[in-house]
Amino acid sequence: MNKLLSDTAIRAARYLATLPERPVTPSREALAAIADFPEALPNDGASPETVVALLDQIGSPASIANAGPRFFGFVTGGATPASLAANWLASAWDQNAAMEAVTPAVARLEELSRRWLLDILGLPPASGAAFVTGATVANFTALAAARHAILARENWNVEAAGLFGAPDVNVIVSKETHPSVFKSLGLLGFGRDRVTAVPTDSLGQMQLDKLVLTDAPTIICAQVGNVNTGGSDPVGEIAKRIAGSNAWLHVDGAFGLWLRASERLGANLNGIEHADSWATDAHKWLNVPYDSGVAFVKDAQALKQAMAISAAYLPLEGSVRNPSDFTPELSRRARGVEIWAAVSELGKTGIGAMVERHCDQARRFADGLAEAGYDILCPVTMNQVLVSFGSTAENRRVIEAIQEEGTCWCGITKWQSQTAMRISVCNHMTSDDDVELSLAAILRVAAAVL
Ligand SMILES: *Cc1c(COP(=O)(O)O)cnc(C)c1O
Repeated sequence: MNKLLSDTAIRAARYLATLPERPVTPSREALAAIADFPEALPNDGASPETVVALLDQIGSPASIANAGPRFFGFVTGGATPASLAANWLASAWDQNAAMEAVTPAVARLEELSRRWLLDILGLPPASGAAFVTGATVANFTALAAARHAILARENWNVEAAGLFGAPDVNVIVSKETHPSVFKSLGLLGFGRDRVTAVPTDSLGQMQLDKLVLTDAPTIICAQVGNVNTGGSDPVGEIAKRIAGSNAWLHVDGAFGLWLRASERLGANLNGIEHADSWATDAHKWLNVPYDSGVAFVKDAQALKQAMAISAAYLPLEGSVRNPSDFTPELSRRARGVEIWAAVSELGKTGIGAMVERHCDQARRFADGLAEAGYDILCPVTMNQVLVSFGSTAENRRVIEAIQEEGTCWCGITKWQSQTAMRISVCNHMTSDDDVELSLAAILRVAAAVL
């Protein structure tokens, strides 16, 4: 075991060391070699050394450098050194993070992570938290708490009775709500299409004057950080409008919520602490390994009532925080350990500084591309940039060529029926030099293609 793990650490360190130098997109040969993973089900086992060597020989060169400093696709964080190392150590512990009684250290680290994140994000300190796989499940979890609370106020126990025959609940989204929220609504029995969608402005932000509220039980799904524009709904204003009504305000802040870590940028999101629940990712802007997201619910009891189960062999309710009382999962890995490690390593100001740096770098991309005459589709308010090189066909050709060239990786998107390239700056390693190098490559490739 000793030698295997040390050798694996050397392989992993070598992989990470090559990331800044190697093309972000693997070579054709490396990609073709994926076929060399044997297809036949092994009848007899192999040595662990053989297994890991095969992974490294075929898998490492064939992996896109998602973890590296010049991958700007989707909204993709890397993993800080402490969070990656903590992930390994926690895997060695192999703790089942469901119950405090058998994982006391992990439960403590999750509880500290809960408190620290609420502090960093400026959310009510008594909020409940669920450490889940990502923002999709965080949305699902928070909306399950919303469903519980909204219907409990109508004297309906949804966990026991289900939704058949339950009082109606209006669900309000926006035209720009993330697809994962619709999936969550479907899973929860609200229906993906049984929603009212509020129109949005040129940044994809909910238009407050188009939001129509009634006295009926209502769940409003707001968003902080649009995946294309970085735009945010006026959450504070919406919270004021619904004060005192039977409405629940949920915020999908998968990456945008982290703006709150910066004093300079967080002011844009004033008032979001008055919402009822928030979903975020840790594997995006906090830069911990996949998979890691968190749901926060102001009324911790509502979250617990939506999620807790009892069984003869499970510990009785007591004063301790049993992590599984708050999550859809029972048995699961100890995600809170990596979050604790990343926050310990970066500190509150370090996280704020990283967020500010990424937003500055996004603006630098936009300025450089605009100077060269390309269209920046909307003002850069966060870490996302939308640039168009011309027609849909021209955009496609330029983006493919940029990915092929390999200095950096940016993806294609559509914004208000216009095809564009999206640049998302989210990796803790991305330096200003990486941005200059990438910008130069994008301009060079675009000029050559066009
Ligand atoms: C990324 C994202 C999600 C989904 O998050 P996963 O971690 O992929 O589950 C949801 N909402 C927004 C706004 C996002 O950016």
